Order: sequence, then C-alpha cells, then structure tokens
Amino acid sequence: MSRPFNFSAGPAALPEAVLTQASAEMLDFQGSGLSVMEMSHRSKEFGAIHQAAQADLREILAVPDNYRILFMQGGGIAENAIVPLNLSKGQTVDFVVTGSWSQKSYKEAARYCTTHLAQSNADSGHTHLPAPSSWRLSEHAAYVHLCSNETIHGVEFQSLPDLKALGSDAPLVIDFSSHVASRPVDWSRVGLAFAGAQKNLGPAGLTIVVVREDLLDRALPICPSAFNYKLVADNDSMFNTPPTYSIYIAGLVFQWIKREGGVSAMESRSVAKANLLYGFLDDSAFYTCRVEPSCRSRMNVPFFLADEALNNDFLAGAKAAGLLQLKGHKSVGGMRASIYNAMPLAGVQALVDYMADFERHRA
Ligand SMILES: *Cc1c(COP(=O)(O)O)cnc(C)c1O
Repeated sequence: MSRPFNFSAGPAALPEAVLTQASAEMLDFQGSGLSVMEMSHRSKEFGAIHQAAQADLREILAVPDNYRILFMQGGGIAENAIVPLNLSKGQTVDFVVTGSWSQKSYKEAARYCTTHLAQSNADSGHTHLPAPSSWRLSEHAAYVHLCSNETIHGVEFQSLPDLKALGSDAPLVIDFSSHVASRPVDWSRVGLAFAGAQKNLGPAGLTIVVVREDLLDRALPICPSAFNYKLVADNDSMFNTPPTYSIYIAGLVFQWIKREGGVSAMESRSVAKANLLYGFLDDSAFYTCRVEPSCRSRMNVPFFLADEALNNDFLAGAKAAGLLQLKGHKSVGGMRASIYNAMPLAGVQALVDYMADFERHRA
C-alpha cells in the first residue's frame, strides 16, 4: 500500500527509504543488539554514527574547513536567543524582516542586544523581498540577520546578499531552517547559518549550526554553557547529551541525499516541483498565489481559493485523495503546500491533478 503525500510544513515528510531502513534497524542496530535510542552517546557505535553524520553534512553542504558544524538542541526558536547570546557582544544587530520567522528573531534578540530594523516588507504583507540596496545597515553591527526562506509567507532569497558590497563589515547570519540542502549555500557570504532539522533534514530535536571559526569565542557571560558555541565546538557537540536518535535519522537523510545526487540534484528537483505548482496556480483563475514571482519559495507554497467558503471542502477532498496537511498557517490563511526534498515530483503532480479536478467540479 502506498503512503499518502504529506505536505506538512514541519515536522515534515521524510524519505521513505530512510523510514524503511530505520524500522529495520530499530531493535538491533547493525548487530549491536541495541536500538540507537538505547546507546550511550559515548559508545563506539554512536560515535561512528555521529562522525559520519557530520562528515556527510559537511560534504553535501560543501562547508569550508574554517567552519564548524554543531549539533545542538532547542530548534530555530532557541537560536533566536542563542545567536545574539553568542555573537552580539551586547552591541547593535541589524535585522531584515521578511516574514514571521525573521520577525520572531528580531523580537527575541532585543532581550540580549540593541536591535536595528534595517528593512522590512511588512507593508506588502510579506509578499516581496526588499532589494538589498534599500537596506539601512548600521555602521558597526555585530551581525546582520535574515531568514533565507520564510516558511510561513513563502518568500525565499534566490541569492544571499554581499554585505561588503553594501558597505557593511558585519557577518551575515541566516536562518535556513526550511530550505537547507535544497540549494547550494555561498559560504563566502555567510558567518553563521542555523536550521531546525524537522523541515528538510530529519526529525525534530536536532538543530544544525554552521559557524565560522573566528565567531566562536565571543559569547556574553550570561550565555548558558550548553548553548555556548565555543564549548559545544570544543566538545565536538557532546558537551551535553546530544539528541542521538534525531542525529541518527538525519544521518540517514544525509546518506539518502548523497545517493540521490547531492544538493544539486535536490535543487533541480525543487525547481521542477515548484515550476509545476506555481505554473498551475498562475494559469488558474480559481487559485491564486500572492507572492511576487521573483521571490517565491521553492519549498513552501502558500495559495488561496477564490472562494474561501470552499476551504474545508478542498481540505477534506484532498485528504480523501491522500494529500495531507495542506491547510495554510493561521496567520496567513488559505492553503500551503510544503514541498521539501522528500516530496517526490509525483506528489506535486497528484496535488495539481486534484486541484484541477476540484476546480472543474466546484468553480
Ligand atoms: C520551523 C522554523 C523555525 C522554528 O523551529 P523550532 O524548531 O520550532 O524552534 C525557525 N525558523 C524557520 C525559518 C522555520 O521554518
């Protein structure tokens, strides 16, 4: 029996091959007699899982040698505090607000540093991206924060800004939670990137931080030890017990990405899936996407039915057709299809077929 297509924004669908392997290894991981969940994080077996996961992530994201990969906990929302605790030095931090997630980061950071709103797209209802030339960057910011893919509003940076060219020496911090591993990262433009794993990399509970080494040692004294990047890095992400099972599953996802052709293959699939869905939306008078075409997310596609009174029927019919979790975020309304790496093109095709059918019968 085939599984339904899951369009959840997160925790999100995982590759079926990963779930199959994890279930086969659940009771006895490779002859150890233990489930990965039951192993000491200091055991030889888990050490190998941990090292392989780090190395594979470094390979697929092409992370340069002068960056450290940290496996942490607390998710993206915890990083909204952990980043300023580690990088702000209590000084001014610039924020570019382009949707709910960067707005949350901006608000939380104010507890630990002086925040400066360099630019916002709130006037458009977060449906466009303000040109970097319009950003009002501070002269001596500790860093500049942006969210490179806004999961809720569906706007995505198609390239990262070159802050130097904009007159800022500050390192760029990106929240890439919801599009990590779907496109390459230009590390020459990034000081730190963080992501909760549960969108594109694995289960909830694991947070990925990629940080340039020169930024490791500037935490405020009040920064909790378990969240101090230098301590976490010095202890190879074992300062406290790491989320072992989440790391194991994420490691299987990294292996799956490698087998499938790496991030470049993920990117071309994402382009094909996004083109199919946005192309359909643009051709239809029954459905609309309000996000400006130049900054539409390849991962999160918010859309609306012309007659919102049909929303519940649309969702019920979708569920019956094996298309799950299409309800939009409550702050935006309408529908949202999240089409991360684990969503096959066939899933998007099934969605488009269903939508065309619904339109034929209900328009
Ligand atoms: C999901 C998400 C988060 C929040 O992650 P939590 O694990 O709930 O803390 C942060 N940023 C972005 C862009 C997200 O999509």
